[in-house]
Amino acid sequence: TDGRRVHLYANVGGLKDIELAVKHGAEGVGLFRSEFLYMESSRFPTEQEQFEIYKKAAEILKKPLTIRTLDIGGDKALPYYKFEKEENPFLGWRAIRFCLDMRDVFKTQLKALLRAAAYGDIRIMYPMIVSVEEFRKANQLLEECKQELKERGVLFRESIQTGIMVETPAAVLMAEELAKEVDFFSIGTNDLTQYILAADRGNQKLTKLYDPFYPAVLRAVAQVIQAGHKAGIEVGMCGEFAGDEGAVPLLVGMGLDECSMVSSEIAAVRYQIRGISAEQMKHLAERVLAAVTVKEVKQLLER
Ligand code: PEP
Ligand code: MG
Repeated sequence: TDGRRVHLYANVGGLKDIELAVKHGAEGVGLFRSEFLYMESSRFPTEQEQFEIYKKAAEILKKPLTIRTLDIGGDKALPYYKFEKEENPFLGWRAIRFCLDMRDVFKTQLKALLRAAAYGDIRIMYPMIVSVEEFRKANQLLEECKQELKERGVLFRESIQTGIMVETPAAVLMAEELAKEVDFFSIGTNDLTQYILAADRGNQKLTKLYDPFYPAVLRAVAQVIQAGHKAGIEVGMCGEFAGDEGAVPLLVGMGLDECSMVSSEIAAVRYQIRGISAEQMKHLAERVLAAVTVKEVKQLLER
């Protein structure tokens, strides 16, 4: 009601979801979970196969499209690649760790993304980042890919935005430094909640503990938004918290720039945001961030 805009984006897993995002009036895609492409295949998808899907996605959407690079491992397996059994898969060889080691697999995806970005507003997002070094290494491989595409003489986009998912406590603690190097942040509260509270997101016995309304998680979120804004970059959120009607006023008050969610939630969140004032929500956020218990937080948010 006081004119602040919050972008409402969609989370998608493939082309069908992109069509849904368009139907539901998403302003773009804040999270394209590219792992589904890999999980539904019978081998690592080729550069050409990926290029065609990303290009099509960009052409259907015609709006900003944030594609997350392969986030495999943890709870997500591949039918054609045998991961060694790990004691703690969520603390294991997954996402960017896997990609930085499996350079050929990673570079195949990066080249497909660079080529598809010639046809639309594609941004690259790296998952599970814990350090500035990891981000630099990923971007260094991206530069190598550009060089190789140049040598092959194929069309691609030279200047492409690269950002990170902030979903580890390490990334929160290093947010100021990371913000100076990345083009954008997207807060992944699904993982961030489990890592901050040391509570497995899939453990049925921990459903009460696995709760993003815990003050520790909320303070982490606020810290990331502040760090991002200090460096002048946009901060979005693509964890499920971004589409939670109980959380939206708080997120607006914290200054979040973009909420990305399942398409079907967009209309309700849009309606909700249209009825609130950013200035008033700022005061609410200040009170919530001063709360000491999850119960107090929920009382303040009338949940
Ligand atoms: C997250 O961790 O918040 C997230 C959006 O990614 P995923 O749920 O795919 O781990
Ligand atoms: Mg995650």
